[in-house]
Amino acid sequence: MTKHYDLIAIGGGSGGLSVAERAARYGARCAIIETGRLGGTCVNVGCVPKKIMWYAASLAHALDDAPGYGFKLDYFDFDWQALKTARDAYVHDINAWYVDYLARSGVDLVRGFARFVDVRTLEVDGENYTADHIVIATGSRPRIPKLPGAEFGISSDGFFELIACPPRVAIVGSGYIAVELAGVLHTLGAEVTLLLRKDQVLGAFDPMLREELMNRLQADGVTVLTRTSVRALARLANGTLNLHCEGQDQPLRVDTVLWAIGRDPNTDRLDLAATGVTVTPDGAIPTDPYQNTNVPGVYAIGDVTERFHLTPVAIAAGRRLADRLFGQQPKRRLPYEYIPSVVFSHPPIGTIGLTEQEARHQYGQAVKIYQTQFRPMYHAFTSRPVRTTMKLVCIGPEERIVGCHLIGEGVDEMLQGFAVAIRMGATKRDFDDTVAIHPTSAEELVTLPST
Ligand SMILES: Cc1cc2nc3c(=O)[nH]c(=O)nc-3n(C[C@H](O)[C@H](O)[C@H](O)COP(=O)(O)OP(=O)(O)OC[C@H]3O[C@@H](n4cnc5c(N)ncnc54)[C@H](O)[C@@H]3O)c2cc1C
Repeated sequence: MTKHYDLIAIGGGSGGLSVAERAARYGARCAIIETGRLGGTCVNVGCVPKKIMWYAASLAHALDDAPGYGFKLDYFDFDWQALKTARDAYVHDINAWYVDYLARSGVDLVRGFARFVDVRTLEVDGENYTADHIVIATGSRPRIPKLPGAEFGISSDGFFELIACPPRVAIVGSGYIAVELAGVLHTLGAEVTLLLRKDQVLGAFDPMLREELMNRLQADGVTVLTRTSVRALARLANGTLNLHCEGQDQPLRVDTVLWAIGRDPNTDRLDLAATGVTVTPDGAIPTDPYQNTNVPGVYAIGDVTERFHLTPVAIAAGRRLADRLFGQQPKRRLPYEYIPSVVFSHPPIGTIGLTEQEARHQYGQAVKIYQTQFRPMYHAFTSRPVRTTMKLVCIGPEERIVGCHLIGEGVDEMLQGFAVAIRMGATKRDFDDTVAIHPTSAEELVTLPST
């Protein structure tokens, strides 16, 4: 018998969970269809396990720094397998928590892979489910290049399956996943080579951030090969890998190759043709500002769309869609300006708003930049001269802040509060008028000299 709902979300990741839970709170009858583990990419193979590995790498840095503060550490060892076991247990607890949470929220969980039969009907393992509103929240998966031997490499999903730190790793890619995993692997003991197709990491970020991070990666000992295109990958009898690159006679010999060249939206197996929902050439689902696809009653949120691919964005888009559909808030939507984000590199990056280039392109002469660089007090006592760099992008005579770009210790936690102020339209004067907290790195942002 076909079961009917007010709303079905396809995908039990950040977006699907949020839209269904919020809709259920308004009294809507909701279901989530999930083929894998609840929590999606973020919980299972993304933010959560990644942050645990980042903490481990940060601890390794702290141990390196400790002698500067008088500690005598003769020996320390790192047990990757022990951390993996604890990390997997932590993630499984979250999976189980979500099962309970859905039950408490009154949302039905359908286990299996969903395909469209028509605009209102989904099929899962031979059963049909219908809904007035269907939200596509199927996320994305790591892209594997179409190259000979590509299957011998791993993706970020495979990174979380590693049971030991590989001695030599090549990471192919320049985005945030590539630089984050390069930092973790290098700090935890691997010899890391980062292969970039172009000249720099983090293509869309402010040039100051790109340059500072690139310098830091190299200063820490990551080998960065720019303008390098991979041709093929071959596995030798002893298990090592030969990575063949354009224009290089000798292959790069490593133990692990990690592809971090982008992600593909999960739309190809949804039978979208049965609905008329259009996709971009890359397979993403275009939506209007209200998450509507081109077909009424079918919506898309999160990584399956073309917008910011971040957990809080998927969550916010999902909740607001539910507010609009069931909460009598017809204008409710997620504005996509001023989305703060952090790259968990070492040191981390925090960024919000327009880059300097984007601001100059939009506002020309009206742009004013404030920038500072300093060695934070913490590093006055360490052997690593890690600097902090901060940039404010302001516009107009009132110097409204339209961009804030930070790299340095602690900026990952620093940005959230500043993001509130910037979203509310803060000016440079508002920052100047805010009493500093001393001694911190954050105080530098409210004491940038006015010129
Ligand atoms: C290594 C890595 C690190 C990251 N770090 C961060 C970070 O630090 N901060 C941050 O904000 N974001 C981070 N992200 C991004 C974040 O994980 C995603 O933006 C977020 O998970 C997107 O949520 P979503 O609901 O759109 O998709 P997902 O979380 O991917 O959920 C989609 C779900 O749909 C299911 N599914 C797919 N097709 C079907 C089908 N046909 N039927 C049933 N189920 C289906 C999948 O199994 C999956 O569970 C990271 C991502 C990666 C890969």
